[in-house]
Amino acid sequence: MRILLLGGTGEARALATELHPDYDIVSSLAGRVPDPALPVGPVRIGGFGGVAGLRQWLGDNDITAVVDATHPFASTMTAHAAQVCAELGLPHLVLSRPAWDPAGAIRVGSDIEAAQVVADQHYSRVFLTTGRSGVRPFMSSHAWFLIRVVTPPDTDLMPCNHEVLLSRGPYGYADECALLRDNRIDVLVTKNSGGELTEAKLKAATDCGISIVMIDRPPLPAGVMAVGTVDEAAAWVAGLES
Ligand code: NAP
Repeated sequence: MRILLLGGTGEARALATELHPDYDIVSSLAGRVPDPALPVGPVRIGGFGGVAGLRQWLGDNDITAVVDATHPFASTMTAHAAQVCAELGLPHLVLSRPAWDPAGAIRVGSDIEAAQVVADQHYSRVFLTTGRSGVRPFMSSHAWFLIRVVTPPDTDLMPCNHEVLLSRGPYGYADECALLRDNRIDVLVTKNSGGELTEAKLKAATDCGISIVMIDRPPLPAGVMAVGTVDEAAAWVAGLES
């Protein structure tokens, strides 16, 4: 049995720690960030080259099962893995951490809709945590943005009034409250990434009376098997042996 673990998340690293060295795993990272946090065990880095490339790679590397522990918004990779595993008849599991559900959040279906809400509601000081690729829809806004990202977005895609805060979680409640207050934020715009590492901003925003615009997750491909925790994913892998 040889398992491909699609990663780029804390959950994927935790699962690699659970499985290695008892199971033959290889973790895969997209290679987006220059200094990624690496999981234990063997790691490959870079895209596969679409559906055809993934199909080829799985065959070349004798993979017998795939656990997709990518970020809930990594929908292209998730779709490719679901399609290829179905075609090849490989056991396939998605590990997707539970979504957040903060009371009173304005729910939207995309970053474009989120930008529309910011414009319609005349928010003026925005804390934007939609990631490097989620900045573009806000580029024509005249609000001021505090843009927190791991790697800087392209400068020509950013709104004219902004400050970039380069950092990587986890973040604590007190620090998030201070950040919101010090920057006189009136709305938090975030993807529904879920997980505890970056959750403190939601309670901080709620307690500070700041609006939350929450971008809903893309749906999982139809028919995939999904679990919400690392322990459940490890149990699924253990069950493959029987
Ligand atoms: P995506 O849009 O679903 O994927 C775009 C392409 O990147 C895929 O088609 C694939 O290229 C490659 N790719 C993505 N994940 C890969 C992986 N684990 N191993 C090898 N290739 C991968 O993904 P994304 O949203 O850009 O995310 C990229 C990575 O960052 C993922 O590993 C994800 O877990 C992590 N991440 C994403 C977010 C987010 O908000 N989207 C946040 C935190 C971390 P090919 O078609 O060439 O195979």
